[in-house]
Amino acid sequence: MTDTTEAVPNPILQGLRRGVRRQCPNCAAGPLFAGYVKVLSPCPNCSHDNAQYKADDAGPYFTILLVGHLCIGPLLIFPFIWKSPLWLVLGTTLPLIMILTLLLLPVVKGAVIGVQWGMKTSREAKTSSPPLTDGRS
Ligand SMILES: [Zn+2]
Repeated sequence: MTDTTEAVPNPILQGLRRGVRRQCPNCAAGPLFAGYVKVLSPCPNCSHDNAQYKADDAGPYFTILLVGHLCIGPLLIFPFIWKSPLWLVLGTTLPLIMILTLLLLPVVKGAVIGVQWGMKTSREAKTSSPPLTDGRS
């Protein structure tokens, strides 16, 4: 007996990968955003309604979490940073925090939307799907 589930890619990881690349999670050919983080819906390639996935504050939340760990963590760990002049520390970390945040926000928001696509969670799914009974969809 062969296991056919390995041939099918995990839709959550597939959606995550496509979202990180800021591609439509449904077809991977169309763009996910019309601008910086405005969701382009429907997709110009496959007409999938990407606006049905509500990223809300998850994108900024995970972005702050990532940037905080990447920038604030070293400030707390390395003592040579504590002994540096304040103007040097603020002059380097504040622009770094701002640039990283602006670069990561669309990537993280795309990832959130891609994961929602993979998990088949949307505004319509919450209101129209029957309740799950065995934990599988
Ligand atoms: Zn598409």
